[in-house]
Amino acid sequence: MKSTPDTIEQLHLLLNILQNVDVGLVVLDRDCKVQLWNRFMENHSNTRARKVIGKDLFECFPELPGEWLKSKVDSVFVLNNRAFTTWKQRPYLLKFSNYRPITSQVEWMYQNLSLFPLQAVDGSIAQVCMIITDVTESALDDIALQALNDELDLLSKTDGLTRLLNRRSWEAEVEKEFLRFARSGRASSLVMLDIDHFKRVNDTYGHQAGDEVIRQISATIRKTQRDTDISGRYGGEEFGVILVESDAEGASYFCERLRAAVEDLHIVSGEHEIHCTISLGISEISQEMTLYRQWVEQSDQALYLSKESGRNQYNVYRG
Ligand code: GH3
Ligand code: MG
Ligand code: MG
Repeated sequence: MKSTPDTIEQLHLLLNILQNVDVGLVVLDRDCKVQLWNRFMENHSNTRARKVIGKDLFECFPELPGEWLKSKVDSVFVLNNRAFTTWKQRPYLLKFSNYRPITSQVEWMYQNLSLFPLQAVDGSIAQVCMIITDVTESALDDIALQALNDELDLLSKTDGLTRLLNRRSWEAEVEKEFLRFARSGRASSLVMLDIDHFKRVNDTYGHQAGDEVIRQISATIRKTQRDTDISGRYGGEEFGVILVESDAEGASYFCERLRAAVEDLHIVSGEHEIHCTISLGISEISQEMTLYRQWVEQSDQALYLSKESGRNQYNVYRG
């Protein structure tokens, strides 16, 4: 093909665009030797084109995820197909500084990566082009949205006063544990507990003081349980705790520790110091139960027995 002034102008134009476009352009040959390194790449990597052209990309940048990128490049050569990865799979290829003031929350640039084969004049595929796009802004929007969704999800599952699970989500956990037991056969116990004579607290010290008592007892439950145990606010001043893989004996130790810890609390509200106790009921899961609700009912019956027997104690459901 003979070059005319027109084609030379066209080439010059294309080269200009290639250099100034706001994406990273890299061309590699089959040995991963760099054939093109545009200005975006020069600016962000702080490496001039003349330092990398003709050299092995992975030797120039040992921090690159070599194996991963090589297999991507190879697949483009072999399949003669495009490949694409997003920042969600890999936040960045090369750690470029993020200069954009609007997205200054992160120091580095989130990148999408696209690869496609370049056909030579004879039709063979001898080169692969990589396009690196700065997607920091949309990635940060996405991350913020995800964090918001997670927060909303947590809020919809928890109780505002105590930060424990609300009744609906706690019962869902009881059901999950019930189904897990059907598969694994490893026993767990359910504890229901209720604050003793709580009406008196409200009547004597006011509703706000009552709320403070509920908050502190909830915090005590959280401190007493193990990380794997699951507590929830079942009703106004009634709580449930799933003691995962604890039999009734293990649950008894937990109940006694919790009972004593609540009894020892000095709850301060205004000028008042309030003392409270709780009553508890334990039920160990059993093969005879067909519905998870039976498990809750049995713990509730054991709790009722504790109330009947004088409060400030626990009882185990005996059938
Ligand atoms: P018992 O020992 O038999 O449990 O006696 P009790 O007085 O605790 O009786 P009961 O469980 O029936 O009373 C619960 C009281 O808790 C009634 C209700 O006004 C109060 N309550 C429920 N939810 C809240 C709340 O969120 N904050 C406050 N301050 N009080 C609440
Ligand atoms: Mg009560
Ligand atoms: Mg109650």
